[in-house]
Amino acid sequence: MAVKRLWQITHSCGHQAERDLSDRAADRRAGFAEWLAKQECTDCWRAAKEGNEQEKAA
Ligand SMILES: [Zn+2]
Repeated sequence: MAVKRLWQITHSCGHQAERDLSDRAADRRAGFAEWLAKQECTDCWRAAKEGNEQEKAA
């Protein structure tokens, strides 16, 4: 039986990303995928973080 490793996540920012959840316990992947869907994608998260750091520096 093929184990689902790659999950298509639609993030809260609207972007889609394929995440390899093979490092997660099999019974936790669905929950983790759900949690990921509530977050922004990595790019948006990084952009927001950099924006925050620039605000702090200013
Ligand atoms: Zn995004």
